Amino acid sequence: MLRADHARTQRRNLRQEIARLVEVAVFGTLSETYRTCGRPGCHCQQGGPKHGPHLNVSYRGENGKTTGYYVPKGAEEATRDGVAAWQRLQRCMRELAELNKERNLRSAREAKSR
Ligand SMILES: [Zn+2]
Repeated sequence: MLRADHARTQRRNLRQEIARLVEVAVFGTLSETYRTCGRPGCHCQQGGPKHGPHLNVSYRGENGKTTGYYVPKGAEEATRDGVAAWQRLQRCMRELAELNKERNLRSAREAKSR
């Protein structure tokens, strides 16, 4: 396959994957916490196991401050998938940017040799 054809195929695949990922991506870092509750006499306040794990997402907001939220059980799977999708999205965007760079440099070389 010609280099330009190969780049075109790569670009199409990346665009398709990016389109899929942007639909589900979630921004942030996952962490799991264990908590004590407010129930009097609960084992969690007497050295017994605490409650959890509870899933949390934290991220740096636009004002630069770290913020976050608690993820309810029903949203855990979608949130985990979403955070993985965000990371995959970053890699896809880098690859696409690399192809863009190569295309720009190639067209500059071709214009010069003309
Ligand atoms: Zn408790």
